[in-house]
Amino acid sequence: MRLLVIEDDPDLNRQLATALVDAGYVVDRAFDGEEGHFLGESEPYDAVILDIGLPKMDGISVLEAWRRAGRAMPVLILTARDRWSDKVQGFDAGADDYVAKPFHLEEVLARIRALLRRSAGHAKSELNCGSVDVIQTVRGLGYLLAPPGNAS
Ligand code: CA
Repeated sequence: MRLLVIEDDPDLNRQLATALVDAGYVVDRAFDGEEGHFLGESEPYDAVILDIGLPKMDGISVLEAWRRAGRAMPVLILTARDRWSDKVQGFDAGADDYVAKPFHLEEVLARIRALLRRSAGHAKSELNCGSVDVIQTVRGLGYLLAPPGNAS
């Protein structure tokens, strides 16, 4: 599982990355919106932790740009506790979940686990739909090759 952390506060960025690496994830880090946007657009991440208040390009703009470009990875946004408008804007922009600062690292880890579980569930049901299609196609072929009542 490969994650991206975009947070301009160096201490917070390091704490998040350390906790995620300890939990067994591969973690890339970005410290401003432009760098984060570029990484999220060019690399396949299983989930992203995205701060809203970022230099160069704010988190909402980063998220909107990804969603417009069809990037569908789960995104957990980090918001300031007293900025409820951040949460509304974040969800409107395509966020999957949020954590308000200051947060406990355990809560971030739990929410990331939940996001990854959910996105794995989606991937599985898509696969199931695929096999049904294949079975139907094979039956169709079988019928074409040996139509019933054509023995004589
Ligand atoms: Ca920030």
